[in-house]
Amino acid sequence: LALTACSSERDKSGTGTGGTGTAAKGFPADSLIGVALPSKTSENWVLAGDLFTNGLKDAGFKSDVQYAGASTTVADQQNQITAMVNNGAKVIVIGATDAAQLTTQVAAAKQAGAVVIAYDRLITQTPDVDYYIAFDNFKVGQLQGQALLDGMKAKKPKGPYTIELFSGSPDDNNSGVFFNGAMAILQPEIDKGTVVVGSGQKDIKQTATQGWKAENAQSRMDALLNSTYTSGKTLDGVLSPNDTLARAIITSVKGAGKPIPIVTGQDSEVESVKSIMAGEQYSTINKDTRKLVAETVNMVKTLQAGSTPQVNDTKSYNNGVKVVPAYLLPPVIVTKANAAEAYANDPKLSPLTK
Ligand code: BGC
Repeated sequence: LALTACSSERDKSGTGTGGTGTAAKGFPADSLIGVALPSKTSENWVLAGDLFTNGLKDAGFKSDVQYAGASTTVADQQNQITAMVNNGAKVIVIGATDAAQLTTQVAAAKQAGAVVIAYDRLITQTPDVDYYIAFDNFKVGQLQGQALLDGMKAKKPKGPYTIELFSGSPDDNNSGVFFNGAMAILQPEIDKGTVVVGSGQKDIKQTATQGWKAENAQSRMDALLNSTYTSGKTLDGVLSPNDTLARAIITSVKGAGKPIPIVTGQDSEVESVKSIMAGEQYSTINKDTRKLVAETVNMVKTLQAGSTPQVNDTKSYNNGVKVVPAYLLPPVIVTKANAAEAYANDPKLSPLTK
C-alpha cells in the first residue's frame, strides 16, 4: 500500500523513474546485507554498529557494517556503499553522512536489484531510496522546544526569557526537521515576546553546527557569551539539538563563569544522563537504538521473505524527488523527574538514575 501511495506521489510530480519492484521478490536467507553508518558523532551510532552486526547475524544474514571516517566522511561512505553493491548486498541500510551526496551510489544499488533503507537520516535528491526508518524527528524537536520552555518556567516563573538556539549539521536532513519541530513550539512565544533570542540569531544557517562537532558548538557559545552576554544579561535557556552539543555548551558557560541555563539535548548519552542527574543539563531524548535496529532488522527479514515492510507515515518525508515511505518510532523526553522510569529497562542507563 505504502509503495503504491509513494509511486503515485512521484508520478504526479513527474520526476520519478523506475519502481521498487525488487521489494516483493525476496532473496536467499543467507544473503549479504550492507550497513553504511556515518562517522561516530554520537553514542547512538557506536551502539548501532554492534547491534546491526549481532542482529543480522542472529537473523542468519551475512553482514558488512561500515562507518564513514572522521574527516573524509562523504567519499568514505560513497566507496563503502559501492563496495557493498559490488559484493551483491541485497539490502543496503544507510545512515547518511551527507543526505544529498549519495545519488550515484544508491542508483547503482537499485540497478543491481538491492533495496535501499535510509536509517535514522533521510537520503535526499534521489528516487532510489525505498524506505526510511527513524524516530519521529519533528516530534523530537517539539519535545525539545517544550522542555526548554518548561525548564525555564520551573526555574523562573515569570518571563520574558532570553535564549540562544543551536541546530545540527547542515548536511544531515534531521537537523532541519529537529529545528523546525522546536521552532513550532518556540516561535509563537518569540512572537508574543515572552521568549527573546538574545543574539537575534534565529536562522538555521546562523545556528548550524557543522559536522555535529562539539568544538564548533563550544566556540559559537563562547562567541555568543563574549558578545551578547558581557553586560550581565542573563541567559535563561539554550536549545541544543543533541547531548554532545549540550555538554559543549555547558562547558562554555562554565568556562565563562556564568550560571548554567536550561539546556536541552538528545540521545541519552551516558555523560548527559549523569549531568541531568547532577542538575546541570536539563533534558535529553530517549531514542532507544536497540528498538530502531531491531525494527530495521525486521524490515530486512520481511524483504527477504518477499513481503512488503510495514510503514506508518507516507507523507512527511519528501526527499526532493519523492515522498519516502517511513516507519517512525516515538521519541521520549527525559528530565531528572522521569529518568528512572524512562531508563528502567536499559541496563546501561538505569543504574545512573538511582
Ligand atoms: C541523529 C541524532 C544525533 C546526530 C549526531 C542525527 O542524525 O538523529 O540522534 O545526535 O545525528 O550524531
